[in-house]
Amino acid sequence: MSGNRTINTNKILLKNTFIKLPNLFYTKQLPDSIPSPHIWILNDKLVRDLGMDLTFLQSKEGAEFLSGNQVLKNTNPIAQAYAGHQFGYFTMLGDGRAILLGEYQAKDGERYDIQLKGSGRTPYSRGGDGKAALGPMLREYIISEGMHGLGIPTTRSLAVSITGETVIREEMLEGAVLTRIAKSHIRVGTFEYASKFLGKESVKALADYTINRHFPIIEDSKEDATYNVYHSLLQEVIKKQAYLIAKWQLVGFIHGVMNTDNMAVSGETIDYGPCAFMDRYKPDTVFSSIDTKKRYAYQNQPTIAMWNLARFSETLLQLLDPNPSKAIQIAEKEVMEFTQLYQKYWLDGMGKKLGIFSLKKEDINLIKQLLDLMQKYKADYTDSFFQLSRGTTEQLEMYPAQGFQQWLSLWKNRLSSQNQSEEEVKKIMQQNNPTIIPRNYLVEEALEAAVKKQDKSIMKKLVDALQNPYNYENIPLPYTKVPKENSCPYKTYCGT
Ligand code: AMP
Ligand code: MG
Repeated sequence: MSGNRTINTNKILLKNTFIKLPNLFYTKQLPDSIPSPHIWILNDKLVRDLGMDLTFLQSKEGAEFLSGNQVLKNTNPIAQAYAGHQFGYFTMLGDGRAILLGEYQAKDGERYDIQLKGSGRTPYSRGGDGKAALGPMLREYIISEGMHGLGIPTTRSLAVSITGETVIREEMLEGAVLTRIAKSHIRVGTFEYASKFLGKESVKALADYTINRHFPIIEDSKEDATYNVYHSLLQEVIKKQAYLIAKWQLVGFIHGVMNTDNMAVSGETIDYGPCAFMDRYKPDTVFSSIDTKKRYAYQNQPTIAMWNLARFSETLLQLLDPNPSKAIQIAEKEVMEFTQLYQKYWLDGMGKKLGIFSLKKEDINLIKQLLDLMQKYKADYTDSFFQLSRGTTEQLEMYPAQGFQQWLSLWKNRLSSQNQSEEEVKKIMQQNNPTIIPRNYLVEEALEAAVKKQDKSIMKKLVDALQNPYNYENIPLPYTKVPKENSCPYKTYCGT
């Protein structure tokens, strides 16, 4: 590494354990040098939570590091190889515009990848320029931080820097680099890549690495010779995804591109492209303008997750059992478990959203009836639960409808049949029904001001408000406004 691209500091120490895997899993690659790196936004709170040196990151050298213009001494930046099923079709991919700078051990002991997005071409770039525009990187910043505020596992945004370059999309746009952190960037697609192109020993190496990094419980049981750790890995990954997708459904989040390369085995939401939150409750809502067949519609997300997990299970077959038909049996049984796990997490969450402490079988009807009413009256998903939690249901458009009145009395009867007080009911509902989500129009307003008018204030205020979505003491009322028009199908801001 040439001297002038290296920062000689010990203020931030990074390891890269991923490079201990066979070398076809990655390519050593420096981020591009850029004309004029400047931090556009730095996530001070995240920096502090991680135990990173804020003063260093705010300095000129910090901007060099966060934008990838310079790299820390003794580090090994890489682009990771992966494949994936995109809209159902298998293809070779890899980090086409991302560089993994290394892993940082945070105050909490957890290891986080620090990755740049938009840092230039890599051997996996295919036809792309390896770059990113400011708008989409700020969009990922807002939504990922919003997801975190909502308590949903996600990669996080540490900073967005501008590069001093323009990138060419449908128009000329300001270039930017997002610095994000993740528990890891191991994707279902990383396993598919190993299984399809590298063979059993590499899948095993990747699986062992994943277990060691994400599933210490499995690691601890390794001593027991009768125990198949890869079977446990499959179970754990399925469990984490069932939990994650239930969380998405409960807040009305639509990922938009649930390709297998966009599914992290750690169970974090990853790769915010044409994602969005559903406004009015309409289960077939699709936000991505490229998803013409509605493959990744809101209501399909659990099924697609299961489909992706089936692809994951196939990559582990040789490790599950030496007898191929037995291995398939194990894989099928585990993948089928997804539905039950998902249902359990979703029902549990729905119960809380409605203030029901101990869910009974017949409560499913109550939940379904409400969703049907919301669909019939085109009610806003988030707002409906918000008004129920505040006790202001008369503000809902569907309030006068006879069907809704009937539902309200059924629901109230159900609540009074349990032991918990009204206060307790209100509390659990308010802890599970956000007052604020990164609604499309709010995100667009913030980006419009940021990118077109160089006004950061709207985005900063929005990101701050998104940190406390369950605070009913201090409701950010302007943000709770329901848009008149449904924002679907939705075209992502300025392309990605
Ligand atoms: P995504 O849809 O963001 O998950 O990206 C799918 C694939 O396209 C990944 O391999 C990305 O690295 C790659 N990719 C996306 N945008 C670019 C770009 N501008 N240049 C090169 N590769 C890209
Ligand atoms: Mg991706």
